[in-house]
Amino acid sequence: MKKLQNYINGELVEPISGDYFENIDPSRGKAYSLIPDSDKRDIDAAVESARKAFPMWSNLPKETRSEYMMKISLRIQERMDEFVAAESLDNGKPEKLAGHVDIPRAISNFKFFATAILHYASESHYMEGLGVNYTLRKPIGVVGCISPWNLPLYLFSWKIAPALAAGNCVVAKPSEITPMTAYLLSDVCKEVGLPEGVLNIVHGLGAKVGDAISRDPEIKAISFTGGTSTGKIIAGIAAPMFKKLSLELGGKNPNIIFDDCDFDKMLSTTMRSSFANQGQICLCGSRIFVQEGIYEKFKEAFVAKVAKSNVSYPTDPNAHLGAVVSKPHMEKVLSYVELAKEEGGTVLTGGERVQLEGEYSEGFYIRPTVIEGLAYDCRTNQEEIFGPVVTITPFKDEADALMMANSTQYGLSATVWTNDLNRAHRMADLLNCGIVWINSWLVRDLRTPFGGTKASGVGREGGFEALRFFTEPKNVFISNE
Ligand code: NAD
Repeated sequence: MKKLQNYINGELVEPISGDYFENIDPSRGKAYSLIPDSDKRDIDAAVESARKAFPMWSNLPKETRSEYMMKISLRIQERMDEFVAAESLDNGKPEKLAGHVDIPRAISNFKFFATAILHYASESHYMEGLGVNYTLRKPIGVVGCISPWNLPLYLFSWKIAPALAAGNCVVAKPSEITPMTAYLLSDVCKEVGLPEGVLNIVHGLGAKVGDAISRDPEIKAISFTGGTSTGKIIAGIAAPMFKKLSLELGGKNPNIIFDDCDFDKMLSTTMRSSFANQGQICLCGSRIFVQEGIYEKFKEAFVAKVAKSNVSYPTDPNAHLGAVVSKPHMEKVLSYVELAKEEGGTVLTGGERVQLEGEYSEGFYIRPTVIEGLAYDCRTNQEEIFGPVVTITPFKDEADALMMANSTQYGLSATVWTNDLNRAHRMADLLNCGIVWINSWLVRDLRTPFGGTKASGVGREGGFEALRFFTEPKNVFISNE
C-alpha cells in the first residue's frame, strides 16, 4: 500500500515515529494507503524549518512570492485529472464534483492570493497640521493551518495561499481522513522549486499533530476550519498564549423559502444546497423553512426530486451523491435520522444506508433524506448533522421565519428565496450569520469576507480579510514639525 510522507524542509520524509495508520476509501470501505502517524517531534522539525526559512521568504519581493504561487497553481492545473481522481477517491465525493468544484477552487485560491498580494495596500491617516500615520503590515512569522475533510484541498489551500502570499512560513495539517491531495500538493511544491521550509505539511491525528501546532510557542497564528468542539479546544490552548486565531466552525444553516419566490430556480438550487457533497458542506442549508402558502407544493416537488437522486460510486458520471466520508460519520448521520423519529419527525424519503453492488458493497452510502414534522428547537433541528439529511418546516411570516432561523447556536450562512426586494434586504439585515445568499446559493467571490458568527467561528477569511489576518499591523506616526 502506498505510504504518504510528510513534507518538511523541502523534503518528503517518514514520520519520526516510523508509524502509519490506514487511509480508508469510503466508496469501498477499504484501506488503500497509509498515513504517517506523526507527533510533536515532526511538528518541532517543521516549525524549525519554517523558522529558518522565514527571513528569506518574508524579504523576497512580493512579486517573487507571487510567481512561486502562480507556478503552484499552474502545476495543479496541469495535473488536474490526477488531483480530481485523488480527491474523489479519498473523500468519496463524485469525481464530477471534484472536477468542477474542489480542484478548480484550489487552483483559484493560489492564483487569487498570488495576485491579491500585488494589490494589497496598507492604510495611511493624515492629521492636519500634525503629521501622518502609516500602517506597516508585516508577516507574522511561522503560522499554523489546520483543515477538515469535507473540501480537502479547497480549504487547505484557502488558508495556505494567503499565509504564504503575505510572507509567512507555514506548518499545515490536512485532515487525517482525507490527506491525499495535500500529499500531492507537497509534490507540486517540490516540482516548482518552492524554497525549503516555506511550506511544511505534516500528516497525522488531530489530537497529536493538531495539538502540537496549537501548543507550539513559535507558531504565532492559527487558521483552523473544522468542528465547533475542536475549535473550542484549540482556542483554549492558543488564546492564553495570545496567538492570533481564525476559527471557521460548524453550521446549521436555514434555507428560507417565501411564497413569492421563483419556484423552479429555488427547487433546483435547493437540491444542491441540501445535498451537494452529500450534504457535507458547512454552507449547506439543512433546515428548510417554507412559507405556508407553498409548503405542500414544495414538499411534493422536492420529495419527488430527492427520491430520484442517484446515489452511486464516485466515478459514475451520473452520480448525484457519492459516499459519505467515513463509517463513523455514516453512523453519526444515520443516528440523527433515528433521533428525528424519536423526536416525532416523519421521514418522507431516504433515511437509510444504500448498499451498492460488487466492489462498492462495503461503501458508506446514504440515501438523501427529507424529514418533516419536527419542532424548530428539537435536537435534530439544532445540532449539526453534516450529511444528506434536511428537515422541512412551514412558517407564517417573516418574523416567524427569522425567529426559527436565528434559534440555533450557529451563525454561518443563510439562503433566502423571495422576489420582494424590500423583504430580501430586511431578511439579510436581521439574520444572525456571516453570509446571506438571496435567490442563490454558494456563489463565491473570493474577495468577499467569509466566515460565521456565534458558534460558527471567529474572524473572517477571504480577500484582504485573510491578508489582514496573516499580517501584523504596526502604526507609524511622523510629525510634520
Ligand atoms: P474536526 O474538527 O474533527 O477536524 C478538523 C481538523 O482539526 C482536522 O485536521 C483534525 O485532525 C484537526 N483536529 C482534531 N482534533 C484536534 C485537536 N485537538 N487539536 C488540533 N487539531 C485537531 O472537523 P471535521 O470533522 O474534519 O470537519 C467537519 C466540521 O468542519 C464540521 O463541523 C463543518 O461544519 C466544519 N467546517 C466548517 C467550515 C467553515 O468554513 N466554517 C468549512 C468546512 C467545514
